[in-house]
Amino acid sequence: MEPGNRARVEAWLRYGSDLGLGPYYRDRAVPETAVMTAPGAATESLNQPSQAMAAAAGQTDAGSTLAFAQPAVSPAASVSPRSSPAVSLAQEPSLFEASDRIEGDTLDLIRETIGDCTRCRLHKGRTNIVFGVGSMKAQLVFVGEGPGRDEDIKGEPFVGRAGKLLTQMIEAMGLRREDVYICNVVKCRPPENRLPEKDEITTCSPFLFRQIDVIRPKVICCLGSCASQTLLQTTQGISRFRGEWFDFRGSKLIATYHPAYLLRNPNAKGEVWKDLQKVMAVLGLQPKRK
Ligand code: URA
Repeated sequence: MEPGNRARVEAWLRYGSDLGLGPYYRDRAVPETAVMTAPGAATESLNQPSQAMAAAAGQTDAGSTLAFAQPAVSPAASVSPRSSPAVSLAQEPSLFEASDRIEGDTLDLIRETIGDCTRCRLHKGRTNIVFGVGSMKAQLVFVGEGPGRDEDIKGEPFVGRAGKLLTQMIEAMGLRREDVYICNVVKCRPPENRLPEKDEITTCSPFLFRQIDVIRPKVICCLGSCASQTLLQTTQGISRFRGEWFDFRGSKLIATYHPAYLLRNPNAKGEVWKDLQKVMAVLGLQPKRK
């Protein structure tokens, strides 16, 4: 396919994926053993945003088109919990996953194991492996899809336009980038920023699981469909379960829209801010003061 057309098709597929359509290439069957998670107890205490949080919802970074300017969350919207999504997700680690934890594992060891990886085709086009960045003691881990051009060049996740928006989101939560841990499902840039293929995810995601097992964060925030579908082992669209709490190997997991989606759809920032407020409540965080 001509590269320009391919990029356009990719953009549409990504847009559809962000909306919860697709994925178009995966087995849509939901495993029979999968169990639906009811929104957890934590959700209940999250339905009353404080004045400060509502004020933070209006935080803007004047002059920046990337500003994480959340529309104020109306109390009415925030007190009415979403009905439980009719979504089936795997919650508990399978026996394989449970036994998959590596005693004495460290982030350095994982990076060392990845080495100069050639396990999948993505290595052919990469400049740098983008392993992850942040505190190994982080209570909050953000998981994205895979490196883009800027990340590939720099070897660090979320440093491009979407990354700047993620940084603003983190700061709006009253945190700094170095307080959290940021990583991706795949560690090498997919060509022309296409979605990672299923086999690439299968090959690379064990390293992500190990990173999470080592850090053992209180909360994992999945950014977009790829991360949430990978960790929750579902093919359901993210809009079906976004903002709900799940268990993931002892951590609380929440999925929200990807910052790149927010760049294309700024109206969705309010939804994301609501999700981040839930994370803040669990972590006992106050939003950043102006
Ligand atoms: N998008 C991602 O999912 N990850 C990055 O690191 C950058 C952009």
